[in-house]
Amino acid sequence: DLSVGLARIDRGDDRAALEKAGVAVEQARAAFRPLAIFDAELYGDPARNLSLMSEMIDGIHRGHLSLHYQPKHDLRRGVVVGLEALVRWSHPTRGRIAPDLFVTMAEETGHIGALTEWTFIQAIGEQRRLARMGRDLVMSVNLSGRLLSEAHFTDLAIDLVDDTGARLCLEITETAAMHDPDTAIAAIARLASAGIDVSIDDYGAGLSSLAYLKRIRACELKIDKSFVQALGANQRDALLVKSTIDLAHGLDMKVTAEGVETQEVMAALALMGCDVAQGYFIGRPMPIDELCPHLDAWARRCADGPEPRAVAL
Ligand code: C2E
Ligand code: CA
Ligand code: CA
Repeated sequence: DLSVGLARIDRGDDRAALEKAGVAVEQARAAFRPLAIFDAELYGDPARNLSLMSEMIDGIHRGHLSLHYQPKHDLRRGVVVGLEALVRWSHPTRGRIAPDLFVTMAEETGHIGALTEWTFIQAIGEQRRLARMGRDLVMSVNLSGRLLSEAHFTDLAIDLVDDTGARLCLEITETAAMHDPDTAIAAIARLASAGIDVSIDDYGAGLSSLAYLKRIRACELKIDKSFVQALGANQRDALLVKSTIDLAHGLDMKVTAEGVETQEVMAALALMGCDVAQGYFIGRPMPIDELCPHLDAWARRCADGPEPRAVAL
């Protein structure tokens, strides 16, 4: 696919214009459009952002980025069955930088590939280490939608899984999967034949289309936290969540609800037939050294019941 980026040459500064045009190409791709004119508003201060991105690459090499892991809890079996890897950046002078900010920026400036390669390798390594300790949990990694259509990243995931035997799930946002369903379908089929699951992330947050959902054979549908958080208080959200669960089950997909912050919401989801819950109630995203003690404490809490487990049955 050809993507064209345009930028104006200011005061004869060709180099700056070229950089901006490069960013416009990425903005076009990120918006799934063939052409974009450099949008300073969208991009902010290009000099600052480009320097932030080179600092990110530098930070990857210097060990300033890390992954946090958040448990995914099976509501029927009452046990943690997976983890989601979420990237963290602790900048030596700027402090913690929000992943929403630098991940989006990396997507728009073409730096997402480097971040993703690093994430794959870290998360898969950790999945194997945990498995050797007797915790063989499925590792979910977020994959920016645009990278799904780049064979390099599906190949990398497949090679890593072939080499290590890791259990891997790739979370792809709904918008990306729906935008180019043919490519998504082909990539998902290749991943599936290598034993890699695909999950449709942030479901409900974008413009969902039933037609695409019918065609895209993902393993898991993740209901966006905006519908889950207010589940107890909001009848309409409850109705939407329940219908989404039934719809996904009808299409042979498992349902994960994200943003589960209270015992009440977890109980309501279990009653609705939701398969997996993820959220602060079960555990926040945490560094690897906190994970095992947390999983043990949570397992004791579930076993002691009557609390979370009783409602899950
Ligand atoms: P996401 O994939 O939807 O991840 C879930 C976000 O919800 C995470 O935010 C998590 O910390 C937060 N969360 C989890 N449980 C709860 C809860 O009970 N309540 C509330 N209010 N929030 C909860 P985080 O870590 O800030 O990540 C934000 C986004 O950044 C992610 O959204 C994902 O789109 C992106 N991201 C993070 N790591 C990566 C990565 O390695 N690669 C890519 N491509 N994107 C990533
Ligand atoms: Ca996710
Ligand atoms: Ca989400």
